[in-house]
Order: sequence, then C-alpha cells, then structure tokens
Amino acid sequence: MARSGQAVARMLAGRGEEVTGVDSGHPDGAAGLREVGVEVVLDADGLALLEGARTVVKSPGVPREAPVIAAALERGVDVLGELEIAWRAVPNRFVAVTGTNGKTTVAEWLGHVYRAAGEPVAVAGNVGTPLSALAGEIEPDATVVCEASSFQLEDSVAFAPECAVFLNLAPDHLDRHGDLEAYLDAKLRIFANQGNDDLAVYNADDPALAGVDLGGCARRIVFCTGGGPDCEVVLAKGTIFYDDAPLLAAGELGLPGDHNVSNAMAVAVAALSMGLARDAVREGLRTFAGVAHRLEQVGEIGGVRFVNDSKATNVASATVGLRAFAGGVHAILGGSEKGEDYAPLLGPVRELCTACYLTGASAERLAEALAPVIGSGVELHRCDDLGDAVRRAAAAARPGETVLLSPACASFDAFENFERRGERFRELVGEIS
Ligand code: ADP
Repeated sequence: MARSGQAVARMLAGRGEEVTGVDSGHPDGAAGLREVGVEVVLDADGLALLEGARTVVKSPGVPREAPVIAAALERGVDVLGELEIAWRAVPNRFVAVTGTNGKTTVAEWLGHVYRAAGEPVAVAGNVGTPLSALAGEIEPDATVVCEASSFQLEDSVAFAPECAVFLNLAPDHLDRHGDLEAYLDAKLRIFANQGNDDLAVYNADDPALAGVDLGGCARRIVFCTGGGPDCEVVLAKGTIFYDDAPLLAAGELGLPGDHNVSNAMAVAVAALSMGLARDAVREGLRTFAGVAHRLEQVGEIGGVRFVNDSKATNVASATVGLRAFAGGVHAILGGSEKGEDYAPLLGPVRELCTACYLTGASAERLAEALAPVIGSGVELHRCDDLGDAVRRAAAAARPGETVLLSPACASFDAFENFERRGERFRELVGEIS
C-alpha cells in the first residue's frame, strides 16, 4: 500500500469496486484511503483476507513468493500487477519503456518530445504520477508514456502497448529474479502480447539482446550506434541519422555521456515511428534538461563540479556515470548490497578516477574489488558515511575535477530511497561553500 498500491486502490474504489488494502508495514498515506471507502489492514500478511478475495492486485515490491501471493496463486485467484490493471482502465495509446537502466530518462525525454510537438501526453511510472492515477483523468487523445520495470512486467497478463521500447539488459535485481534469464523473461513480457500494428523498438548494440527471440508480433524497429543494415536510427561520425538523413549531432544533446546518445536514439526512433514530426523531435532532443538524481549537476564550487547520480544503483549505471567524464573524477561509491560483481568498475575507475570514497554496507567488498587500482595511483578512502565522503572529496578535488556520487549500489542501508540519498548529497554540497 505504498505509492502504486494506494493509486490503484483509489482508482478501483472510485469505480465502485469493493477494495481491501493490505500491507505488512504501515506506509505513509495508506490509512487515508479509508476516507474513499477502502478497508485498510496494516501490519498484516494478508493471508486471513484471501477468503472472499476475487482478484489480488500485487505491488511491484512484493515478491511472488510472499505467502499471501503464493496462497492466492495456489487457489487460482487472479494476481495482477498495477501496470496491467491500469492499462485495462486507461484506453489510450501506450508507449512503454523497459530496460535495466535509462527507463525514467527515456520516458521523461519522450514526454518532453511529445510536448515539443504539441501533442497531448501523460508520463507515468516511477517518477511523478502512478499509472492508475490517470484512469478517468486523462484526455482520450493523449498518449501515455510509461516505465515498465521487470517487477511490473512479471505481473502483466494481456498488457500490450502500441509501442514498446527495450533499452538494455545488465545484471540487476537478481536477488528477486534469481538469474539473468528469468530477469530477461520478465522484461520480454513487454513485447509478448503486441500485435502486427504495434512497434517493438530495441537496441542492437546490446550484446545481451543479440539473438534473443523478442516474442510477440510487433514490427521490429532497431536503433544502434554502429551502422547495422536493419537499423533505422544510427550514429555515424557523431551524428544521429534517421532514415538515412541526419537528424542532429550528438553534441547538440542536452545530456552528457554516450549512454544518453543511446537513450536519445531510442527516444528518436520511438517518437518518429509513432508519427511525430522530425523538427519537433529534433527540438525535443536538444532541449531536454534531464531528470533529477541522474547525472544532475548540483553545484560548482571553486571550479569543482558536484554531480548527483544517486540513481546509479547498479554497476552498469555507475560505469556509464563514470564514463560520462573525461577524467579527474572523485567518485563516491557504496550503499546496500545486491550481491553484484564489482569487477566491471575496475576499468573506468582506473582510467577516470583520481580517488574513490567508499561508504555504506558494501564498502568492504568494494575496497577488496577495487584494490588493484591503488597500483595505478588511484586513492581508495574508507569513509564513515556520505557526509564524511563528500567533505573529504571536496577537500581533495582541484579546479576542473568532479565530485561524483554514482554509488553502484542501492541506498537502503542508510536512506529511505535513492531520492533521499541524492537530496542529502545536495544538502552536503550546499554546506561546503
Ligand atoms: P531507470 O528508470 O531504468 O532506473 P534512470 O533513467 O532512472 O533509469 O537512470 C538510472 C541510472 O542509469 C542513472 O545513473 C543514469 O545515469 C544511468 N543510465 C541512464 N541511461 C542509461 C543507459 N542507457 N545505460 C546505462 N545507464 C544508464
């Protein structure tokens, strides 16, 4: 009964359904649903409520193995995710975006491009509005752009967006999905029910997607930074081309890093294939300012840039975060553990970092994994907490260098979520000057 659970309960109650909300804890705002006629049961496992339940709506944070879900499945009660229910309740055109990293960025960027084209759009998902809050509120001709995480997709049944975008696949959430194959299978549900008139956009640069049977019946649309024969959007000599004609130079994009060129190509091909005008797409690609907590510059003090990439909660996103800079990086790494291998950080840390500041529950394992960089002249500092790390990095960084929070780990060891961690970083930077 957190954010999406509250939204779906509200939506169903508003349609006259009899709704009971249950949570093993007591999230903020849940009790307030009683005012709209939802029965709310907190600090409970929900098992006692299954008797009489006709459909169970599962929030993405709840694993399928949770006793109440396992019991519901055993009894043959339908278990649906919020994405599925909301899609059923919102009859609009959908563009859905999945991938390990870049979902929020691409969804918000697509929304920006639609607005640049003067087309009605609603962006829903992890940032801002939950999808079910759109039911009954959204104009009929608006396009819904939504993020679709693996946890949402694994609970989908008939979900079939008109356009589905698959950005990339890297190890993440394996604590929930078990292995990479199960994680990929969950993500491929985004294509599974698409029909002939739908569009399946994917990234041909990603080796993890090479040779994968995407499933579904949608028209395949490919973007790639090489010049593959089937690619509709390519990058050549620093320019993004669509349909063999230049669209814009990568240097004109508002966001840093090669990964954002890839994101921009996904945005371009989805928007153009959905029928938006070329000029508007170009304009929207140029003018997007990014999303908070994703390589967000939060200050510049004495020539040192401070960049908040708190949303880099896995190794793949921290790697692209580091690679967005030319060198001189003071990287703050560490947080709660997901059991990931930190070895892929060695290359970018060795090439681009002056020093790393290790914090949180994963500091020990990071220190072990990164030990080889000491021989290359990169300093490793163990820090008490984020405040200690920021102060030490700020004291050491010289003009022209960057202090980057791109932790490669989740935040739950010390913060409620990655947003709080990013906000704390911003505050700490504010205290320096
Ligand atoms: P998601 O919604 O999939 O978690 P975000 O857009 O919130 O993705 O970005 C999460 C992290 O991943 C940020 O640190 C961001 O800089 C990084 N990132 C964004 N796009 C990509 C990409 N295409 N490949 C790898 N990392 C990316």
